[in-house]
Amino acid sequence: MKDHPDHLADAWSELVATARRTAADGLVVGTSGNVSVRVKDLILVTPSGVPYDRLGPSDITGVDLEGRPIIGRLRPTSELPLHLAVYRHTPATAIVHTHAPHATAVSTLVPELPPIHYMAAALGGPVRVAPYALYGSDELAAHMLDALRDRTAALLQNHGTIAYGDDLAQALDRTAQLEWMCRVWLTAVSVPGHTPSLLSPAQLDAAGERLRGYGQRGHAPA
Ligand code: 13P
Ligand code: ZN
Repeated sequence: MKDHPDHLADAWSELVATARRTAADGLVVGTSGNVSVRVKDLILVTPSGVPYDRLGPSDITGVDLEGRPIIGRLRPTSELPLHLAVYRHTPATAIVHTHAPHATAVSTLVPELPPIHYMAAALGGPVRVAPYALYGSDELAAHMLDALRDRTAALLQNHGTIAYGDDLAQALDRTAQLEWMCRVWLTAVSVPGHTPSLLSPAQLDAAGERLRGYGQRGHAPA
C-alpha cells in the first residue's frame, strides 16, 4: 500500500466515516450517494459503486479541479460534474449527495420546499428543486448550480439532495436538516382537511439573523 501524507490520510478517513454515516442514518441505500472533500486543489471523492463499509485507507481517490485523476486506482463517483461544479462556483470545502427518502419524495411534488420551518434559513432560504436531468450529466450539474444560488443545499428532482459546507460535518448536518424539514412538510401536508402554515420571507430573515449567533458562537466564557 502506498502511503500518503497524514493530512490526506486523515481527510480520507473522515470522508469514509461520513459516507458510512449517510448509509447508517438512512440517507442512502447501498452505494447510492457520494461524498467529497477539498484539500487545497485536490478533491477527494468516494469511488463509484463501492460499498462504503468496504472502503479502506488504500482506496483513497482524488482528482484535480478539472476531474483528472491524481490519486488512486478506483474510478471516481459518476457525479464528479456535480461536485466539481460546486467547488468551482462556491466556497465549499465538503459536499454530501444523498437519495434521502423524504427529500426525494418532496423533489417530485414542488419546485421549492415550502418554508415550513425556520431551519430553512440555515440553508440560505427556501430550498429549491433542480429540474430533472440524467445522473452524472453536465446538464444536472448546471440545473443544480441554478438551484444552489444563495443556498447551501438543493433538491434534485426525482433524485435526491446536495449540500455543501465548510467541512464534512457541516455538509452532513445540512443534509440531515434538509431531510428532516422535508419529512416535517410531508407529514403536515398529509393531514386531511388542513393546510400547514408557512413562514414569511421576513420571518425567515429574522431566523437567519439570529442563527448567525446560534450556540456557542461569539460566547466568551467568564
Ligand atoms: P456513484 O456510486 O457513481 O457515486 O453514484 C451514486 C449516485 O448517487 C449517482 O447519482
Ligand atoms: Zn445520486
